[in-house]
Amino acid sequence: MPQEQRLLTPGPLTTTKRVKEAMLRDWGSRNPDFIALNRAVLDRLVALISGGTDFVAVPMQGSGTFAVEAMLGTLVPGDGKLLVMVNGAYGARMVEMARRMGRAVVAIEDPEDRPSDTDRLARMLADDPRISHVAAVYCETTSGILNPVDEIAAITARHGRALLLDAMSAFGALPLDARRTPFAAVAASANKCLEGVPGVGFVLVRPDALARAEGNCHSLALDLAAQRRAMSGNGQWRFTPPTHVLAAFHEALAEHAAEGGIEGRGRRYRENCRILVDGMRRLGFEPLLPSELQAPIIVTFRMPRDPAFDFTRFYDRLAAKGFVIYPGKLTVAPSFRIGCIGALDGNDMREALAAIEATLGELGVASGRP
Ligand SMILES: *Cc1c(COP(=O)(O)O)cnc(C)c1O
Repeated sequence: MPQEQRLLTPGPLTTTKRVKEAMLRDWGSRNPDFIALNRAVLDRLVALISGGTDFVAVPMQGSGTFAVEAMLGTLVPGDGKLLVMVNGAYGARMVEMARRMGRAVVAIEDPEDRPSDTDRLARMLADDPRISHVAAVYCETTSGILNPVDEIAAITARHGRALLLDAMSAFGALPLDARRTPFAAVAASANKCLEGVPGVGFVLVRPDALARAEGNCHSLALDLAAQRRAMSGNGQWRFTPPTHVLAAFHEALAEHAAEGGIEGRGRRYRENCRILVDGMRRLGFEPLLPSELQAPIIVTFRMPRDPAFDFTRFYDRLAAKGFVIYPGKLTVAPSFRIGCIGALDGNDMREALAAIEATLGELGVASGRP
């Protein structure tokens, strides 16, 4: 096998050998061992938010977007109205989803380098009684910014509305406790901070909210209430389950627990992020965000000013050295991104920095200064 690349991206991510090896078995969907494994995965996900019996986990085939679309489509009724907090592509995607499903939707839009505006949230909820649900992104992976979820949750709860969270790139590494933060549902996937492989997402949702949502969904396949109803009967998925992906997810969750759960995982990512940002600053690069807004998930760097810097050549040469980074997705400034998540540690980050320094030398770039 060729040498594997290390993925410094927002997903798919580098996984451990044990996670990959967990996929070397073909499971039948009705196999009792598989049904038990599936159950254990779902129970563990509820435990990660201290959901007790207040939450159930409903899995959804596909990438994270499928889980988010299932959450919105199932929980926002046809006569509901969704308010989306937008400061990046993932918030904007939820607005687009709501439009496509024909749900009434409004947005609070902020620039990608600023956290969502909670004062405006409070005003809009006070002014518009038709708004039934608020949707927000925990870590906006577009820039890597941390949004004030606790404040958004408190304001939404105070106004008696339901909060739907996209915690895709935060779940498993940044704190989220259902006993402290009021929300109706949260969507995430196996292949970000939980370090599984891509192919399954999930929504943790209050069972009463799900019961009220029967018949809401515009889509047969994305209907979380139907998915949950089928699974709570015989433990089986409605349609073909991603068996290998779930076996890998089961192993990834065991590794997550062994690392010390959310706290341990978060600590490693914070250290990765610190090493990356310090090292990049030494090379002249400048992060987009001030450190208090930076989530330890993915860092956006401003494009260097040096005319010898060509992003495509930089990217290709780094990839040839075994490190995959990510283009920027910002409208506020030309940029690129480097991830801190996945099965990578401080040594990997230091090796990535050495490869970046060598690549700058090859391109004749004196400094990463923007
Ligand atoms: C990754 C991600 C998603 C889902 O993206 P997919 O490409 O469908 O997996 C949604 N929201 C956020 C914030 C993300 O980081």
